[in-house]
This record gives sequence, C-alpha cells and structure tokens, in this order.
Amino acid sequence: MKLIIASNNANKLREIKTILGDKFDEILSMKEAGIDHETIEDGTTFMENAIKKAKEIVEISGCCAIADDSGICVDALDGAPGLYSARFCGEHGNDAANNALLLEKLKGEENRNAHYTCAIAFVYPDGKTVCGEGIFEGVITETPIGNGGFGYDPLFYLPEYGKTVAQLGTEVKNEIGHRAKALRNLLEKLEAENEL
Ligand code: IMP
Repeated sequence: MKLIIASNNANKLREIKTILGDKFDEILSMKEAGIDHETIEDGTTFMENAIKKAKEIVEISGCCAIADDSGICVDALDGAPGLYSARFCGEHGNDAANNALLLEKLKGEENRNAHYTCAIAFVYPDGKTVCGEGIFEGVITETPIGNGGFGYDPLFYLPEYGKTVAQLGTEVKNEIGHRAKALRNLLEKLEAENEL
C-alpha cells in the first residue's frame, strides 16, 4: 500500500516514516508525490483540520494519506494560542514574535502549565478515516532556553527532564512528544481494526 504524507516538513516526515515505515510499501511526502497543494485550515478543532488536509490529498492522489495538525494550549490563557499557534503574533510562522507574545501575555502569571497537542488523520482512498491524538505536557518558562527544536520549544519546560524541549534533542522529542504519541495512538487503532 502507498501512503502520502500531507506535509513537506522534514521532521514530520522522519517521525511518520519511523513509526509507520514497515507497514507500507512506499511512504511519500507531497513533494515526492508531485503534489503542490495548500489546504485552507479553517476547522474549529485540530482534528477537523487534519481530516480536511488528508481528505484533500486523497482526492488529488487516489492513494491513502496521512495529515496532522498541532499547536500549543496554555491553561492560563484558556487554551490559547491553540489553533492559532503558528500565527499567534499575526504573522504566520514567526517563531520569535510568537514566543515573545506568549511570554508577554504570561507576565506575572503563576500558572504556567501548558500542553502541546497533535491530531492525526489517516484517510483511505474510499474515504474511511482513522484518527489518533497525542498530548505532551509542560510548563512555560520566563525566558527562552535552548537552540534546538522549533516553534515554542525554547519556552516549553519539562520538569522531569530539567530541560526545555529546545534542549532535549530530536531523538528524545520524537519518542515522547505529542506527534509521536498521536502516531502510536493511530497505529494501535489501525492494528486493532486489522487495517494494516
Ligand atoms: P502545524 O501542525 O505544523 O501546523 O503546527 C502549528 C504550530 O504549532 C507550529 O507552527 C508551532 O507554532 C506550534 N507547534 C506544533 N508542534 C510544535 C512543537 O513540537 N514544537 C514547537 N511548536 C509546535
């Protein structure tokens, strides 16, 4: 079976290939599959966006597709930035400005609990959809720490490791992070239904 990942992000491709690699004959990024397409992410939940992305790639390719949507939810901000994580500051993908705004909003706030969340949708050519979810809990720091990872990782502190995710290293993050958990949750469901 051939699977297309609705992304060209190298980190996501590696993670998905690591966890699902031996279940498929071929796993391709959109670029490798010759697909140039951008989904309008206008869902009201992470899962709605993930399903929409995967379904559009299935419609274009006729193959199975997998897509994810993720973000960071901060308790003291009633779950914000949530769906708007990538464009919290108003400019899509400006990590430094997003992080600065998050720290500004949490100035003087004692409750700094937060979680990353990831929703993953796997869609078959006939439209059948199987979903997985993963949550990764942490605490928002007072200043950025560490140079690794991306996005909010320099602010996302893991008390049990004594490090932010930006200090953790990709291998560990890909073991314990929200995307890895969502992928394993998806794999369990696919295996339970004898779908692979
Ligand atoms: P997307 O799921 O790739 O669209 O990610 C949405 C946004 O959520 C990213 O642009 C980041 O701001 C944030 N985000 C999601 N996952 C992570 C992560 O593992 N580390 C840091 N930021 C993340």
